Amino acid sequence: MTEFNLKTKTVLLNCGIEMPLTGLGVYALHGDTCIASVKEHIRNGGRLIDTAHMYGNEEYAGEGVRQAIRESGIPRDDIFVITKLYPNQYGNPRKAIELAFERLGLEYIDMLMLHHPGHNDAKVYREMEKYMEKGMIRSLGLSNWYIRELKSFLPQVRIKPSLVQNEIHPYYQENDVVPFIQAQDIAVQCWYPLGGRGYTKKMISDPVLKEIAAAHGKTVSQVILRWDLQRQIVPVPGSSSPVHIRENLDIYDFELSEEEMNRIRSLDRNEKHDWY
Ligand code: NAD
Repeated sequence: MTEFNLKTKTVLLNCGIEMPLTGLGVYALHGDTCIASVKEHIRNGGRLIDTAHMYGNEEYAGEGVRQAIRESGIPRDDIFVITKLYPNQYGNPRKAIELAFERLGLEYIDMLMLHHPGHNDAKVYREMEKYMEKGMIRSLGLSNWYIRELKSFLPQVRIKPSLVQNEIHPYYQENDVVPFIQAQDIAVQCWYPLGGRGYTKKMISDPVLKEIAAAHGKTVSQVILRWDLQRQIVPVPGSSSPVHIRENLDIYDFELSEEEMNRIRSLDRNEKHDWY
């Protein structure tokens, strides 16, 4: 897999386009809060937005991107917008894709993902391939796909997905799945990087993570996100707090040693925080 470029803060995907390395996940953000958070992320150098049909906020994510472009002059091409189709849409893929365009209000989508494996998933993906060939979608991805699912899915499609997005955090590290995905020249992105809502407090008071954070003069969240980058995993933490949004982007001025990476590795306890 292509190495992360920590200078440009991007990774070259297998389809030939660059994706930014630190994102904002807007799962729990709606209305003006979502718009303001997207703008705060972009204003502070963030360029990657992760939304989905299921979050019910594509229109706000799209509006945030449009406003940020208008107000800052940042070109649309510098911003990378991900959205996802939900399994209850797999019966009519064209309608689902058209709805994503309508809700986002963008001329092209940087990455369209299948949110979960489900009935008809490969058929839906083949429709997504057509939009990619038309240039309307720039890359394709999968979410919540593991080794078994990938082994059965990949032979059914023509364009290899560029990314898989799965639950990954210090207590659930996927140390078997991540190298498997990366060995296919597919990038890995993580959801619930800070453990997910309801678990974040516990995660950021972990004594090992606190000790490592103190040694670098950084916060535990920054240590976790940096650990992701050093494992070649793109994190998309969620937040509506301007302080946290800025903090989560400020992870390029320190490096975890091999010993620190190994200490974090030893925290893995196969503790999944969601069912899928
Ligand atoms: P997360 O692990 O990013 O944690 C979010 C929580 O951490 C929030 O309560 C937030 O206030 C807090 N937080 C954020 N930054 C912080 C900081 N610097 N210091 C202290 N607290 C901080 O969980 P999430 O937001 O639920 O998930 C992240 C994103 O992943 C979602 O927004 C979504 O885009 C994506 N996601 C995808 C799937 C999927 O199935 N593909 C599932 C869940 C989430």
